[in-house]
Amino acid sequence: MFEVIINGQKTIIREESSVLRALTGEGIQVPSFCYDERFINRHFPEETDCGLCVVEIDGKLEKSCSTVISDGMVILSDSDKVIERRKSILEKIIEDHPLDCIVCDKAGGCKLQDYCYEYGIEKSSNSCLEALPVDGSSPFFSIDPNKCIACGKCVKVCGYLQNTNILFLTETNGKRHVAVNGETLRESACGSCGNCVSVCPVGALLPKGISGTRADRWKTETVQTTCCYCGVGCQIDLKVAENKILGAGPAASGPNDGLLCVKGKFGYKFIGHSDRLKTPLIRQNGQLTEATWDEAYALITEKISGLMASDGPEAFAGLTSARCTNEENYLFQKLFRTVIGTNNIDHCARL
Ligand code: SF4
Ligand code: SF4
Ligand code: SF4
Repeated sequence: MFEVIINGQKTIIREESSVLRALTGEGIQVPSFCYDERFINRHFPEETDCGLCVVEIDGKLEKSCSTVISDGMVILSDSDKVIERRKSILEKIIEDHPLDCIVCDKAGGCKLQDYCYEYGIEKSSNSCLEALPVDGSSPFFSIDPNKCIACGKCVKVCGYLQNTNILFLTETNGKRHVAVNGETLRESACGSCGNCVSVCPVGALLPKGISGTRADRWKTETVQTTCCYCGVGCQIDLKVAENKILGAGPAASGPNDGLLCVKGKFGYKFIGHSDRLKTPLIRQNGQLTEATWDEAYALITEKISGLMASDGPEAFAGLTSARCTNEENYLFQKLFRTVIGTNNIDHCARL
């Protein structure tokens, strides 16, 4: 147990933790581009620290992510000195950042944009840059190194969580930026999981074909759901506006703990697709025609009863799907084993 003073208030912190964790535990938001709980006990080169989580501890400016809480600390989370340091970090970042917010698909969900508004960053010398080439070779996402702020999160996620090591940080004309191990993404061993895209705080890594208008991005709400592609049960955060899904990312919970595969991350567009079936279809005179669920169930019952009477239970076989939940699969095998009376039941995962 640690007794500290946070912004003039005596506070008890119950467990050893970083100052950043202690502050967020007390409901104090600490800005950061590079912080990720999943890397807490790993050591990375200091140049990937963004430094924005700076706070004042006993009169000195310290990074709150890497300073461990100790008894008697006097912490100021937003003193004048702290604000000045954060402003100078943001000003340095936007010196070589293309200020394209008005046409950038990250606008509305961009940490750099949000912090610049919050800290009142008004202009930049924008000494920019010969434009670095955008890598659009992946069917799923693009890499724009010009917008990279070298926070290193994508490199860590790809290397240490995805174990793929596709991305690294390099420098061109004095600007540090992300690059691909291999000529382009398409030529690399990238598995398109998109976990790098999910952690990028700016528009350097962006999914392709984002739905909705840019204005919609300010209206999104997050809806947590379970991925429907397999039985693992990964938790997904859907970004929803005007009843349309604009994007998907991993929730920091469930069996996936902040990661997804390519299907969960990018394969959500079927939900609003015009080809999607909205009613059961019954074949009549060779044509599939729309029917109600009552009509469909009546037909299924009639066919099953007829075949049972003429050919017995062994005439049936059931094949179920990894896209159903465990509970639905359980009920399906129960229907076949106990209602129809056959063990001819299988699952597409064994194909
Ligand atoms: S990445 Fe963010 S700050 Fe940069 S242009 Fe896009 S919205 Fe603006
Ligand atoms: S999509 Fe996945 S494998 Fe490809 S670069 Fe990003 S994190 Fe690495
Ligand atoms: S691409 Fe995004 S996540 Fe990767 S280093 Fe650049 S800003 Fe950070």
